[in-house]
Amino acid sequence: MPAKKSSKRAVKTPAKKAAKRITKAPAKKASKRVAKKKTPAKKAVKKAAAKAAPLAAYNAKRDFKRTREPAGKVPKRKGKALHFVIQKHAASHLHFDFRLELDGVMKSWAVPKGPSLDPSVKRLAMEVEDHPIAYNTFEGTIPEGEYGGGTVMLWDRGTYEAEDGGGADSLREGYERGDLKILMHGKRLNGSWVLVRMKRPGRPQWLLIKHDDDYANTKKDIVEKEVTSVVTKRTMDQIATGRRVWHSNRS
Ligand code: MN
Repeated sequence: MPAKKSSKRAVKTPAKKAAKRITKAPAKKASKRVAKKKTPAKKAVKKAAAKAAPLAAYNAKRDFKRTREPAGKVPKRKGKALHFVIQKHAASHLHFDFRLELDGVMKSWAVPKGPSLDPSVKRLAMEVEDHPIAYNTFEGTIPEGEYGGGTVMLWDRGTYEAEDGGGADSLREGYERGDLKILMHGKRLNGSWVLVRMKRPGRPQWLLIKHDDDYANTKKDIVEKEVTSVVTKRTMDQIATGRRVWHSNRS
């Protein structure tokens, strides 16, 4: 008797399981297929949200009805060259915003003293929220009382690349490791530079250092010497009093 029972069970159970498997699997797939077909609008919304998400911190800090700064969007990548921009920013404290394009946004650091061409000088660079690439052409004033209120000058711009020639992968790796070695091709800043992240708790702090090469210079104080916009040739005062409207497509 017990032998009979167990043999019955042995036959029955796998058959049941198999049947379950057969009826269950196609039903699941079908429902997934239907769901996919049903929601093209939802998909587009999700896609847009994912695109904006990298700049959520940037957008949250700004009221775009009050500031002429661009809203944060991640554009489709156009060319191969990655751009950098440095903006002189007279906010509550004067500083230089050092921005490097990577993965559709501008990785950004606030450098209180600005860059130095002297390889023995390490400049503090406080990491801030990623900025949109459209910010690269922003020069003008941010209204007082708004986030970063004050005058912004395009102090330098150009392209940059990973020093080891490894492209965006290498840059991403260097950024994550906290040791970002780059070659800059700007009007004022050129050659080899490094950003090194300090091991400190809290908001990430880095050091911006010029490597010793043909562009290094221990005598020239570039921040003191270059006091006009690299694009419009205006001084900070001229930008502050100017009434020019910002055009995002200015080249
Ligand atoms: Mn700033």
